[in-house]
Amino acid sequence: MKKSSKTLILGFALLSFALSSAAQGPQALPSADERYKVDLLLVVAHPDDEGAATPYLARALDEHKRIAVVFGTRGSSGANEAGGEQAAALGAIREIEARNALATLGITNVWFLGGKDTASQNVLLSLANWDHGESLEQLVRLVRLTRPEVILTFLPGTFIGEDHGDHQASGVLATEAFDLAGDATAFPEQIAGPSKRLEPFLENLRPWQPKKIYYFPDADREDIFRGKGPEYSVKEISKSGKQPYWRMALDSFRAHQTQAKSFLDKVAQMDETQIEKMATSDSFWTEALHFVLGKSLVGGSVTGDIFEGVTPGAIPFARPEVSAEPARPELLVELGGPYSFYAEFRRAHGLMNLPHPEPPEIALQGHTTLVISLCVRNRTGKTQEISLAASLPAGWVVQAGTGKFTVAAKQPAATRIEILLPAVAETETKKPEPQEISVHAESNGQSIGEIRLRVELRKRALSQ
Ligand SMILES: [Zn+2]
Repeated sequence: MKKSSKTLILGFALLSFALSSAAQGPQALPSADERYKVDLLLVVAHPDDEGAATPYLARALDEHKRIAVVFGTRGSSGANEAGGEQAAALGAIREIEARNALATLGITNVWFLGGKDTASQNVLLSLANWDHGESLEQLVRLVRLTRPEVILTFLPGTFIGEDHGDHQASGVLATEAFDLAGDATAFPEQIAGPSKRLEPFLENLRPWQPKKIYYFPDADREDIFRGKGPEYSVKEISKSGKQPYWRMALDSFRAHQTQAKSFLDKVAQMDETQIEKMATSDSFWTEALHFVLGKSLVGGSVTGDIFEGVTPGAIPFARPEVSAEPARPELLVELGGPYSFYAEFRRAHGLMNLPHPEPPEIALQGHTTLVISLCVRNRTGKTQEISLAASLPAGWVVQAGTGKFTVAAKQPAATRIEILLPAVAETETKKPEPQEISVHAESNGQSIGEIRLRVELRKRALSQ
């Protein structure tokens, strides 16, 4: 009795399923989740880096733009001004501080790539420490999920300034993701549709080609960035916030207690007049924001609004225009490390107009070692003798790397010159002037490379 009733019910269920699917016709397939679609994706390195753009984010929100933010790391290194927690525990706190800072503006779609803080100016160290491939895979996923019209990020390059390698790494990854997210053959498992019900591996995202990428530099100089992109005043009054954009940025910054408790405690004691006086005397809060246009696939002018030329809807994948490799002599010595990487990077990503200093430059702490990485290329058919010599200011001492060397036929080789820098007195008050140094490479009495570098000596600087 029991058995037969079960069979009967099952049979009935199958029958009703067959009837209903025949009656319903085609069913709509699920489309992308609109809650995650944005106009602007900000990609930065550390919690509080968003501060470089918050006045602009507040303005874009006034214009009803949807915004998401990606951080490269949780900011687990550095001093904790708010409590005793350090390392991973500090990172856990700073993730919440960053989320709270952005929530103040109304931005809640915020992700972290899982990179680790890397205290140096060398982008290659940061990329290695961030598991470059994994971070890029995740960022491409987030671009496909958020489908940004515009990406805004740090300018990939080395400059006299803080020049943090992690800041540069966020700009490198954002540029790579800009060029990969629309390519259906890049991370195709993210694009593939489900192979079965409750698919656990394939992601069913769509390729997405962002339309524009803009950068902000982590540099002291401004001359080479002027006129390369739009400029936004932070003193205009927000329509929604009823206060200047810089003031909204300061309110957002209040979340970063572990990084700036002593400053924030002071601000908390001030009235509005005192806050305004503090902010106008410190240009950090009130100077205009300058962005640099990286590239636009939809036209628009260089200094026009970030969203100029952007219209709704997807555009086709645009493979980056790779510039031709420059002609090089058969025997050559060039600057290596991050400098040669960036030269190749600009060429590979269609960013030949991206501003970069010539000669290359760096700020370093006094009484540390300057390392000049060199690429030696010998495309001739025989072993070559080369000699390297450095011209330095008084008090700068070559420790290693100059003299005579041989490089085998058809060989690329890497080498480096190490220079001990003079100390900078703690009592020094003069603004440091960059000094130019040069490396001369010769072979058979002929010059095969003249490398120049501008170096500024400081009391404090991130390691090279
Ligand atoms: Zn930072």
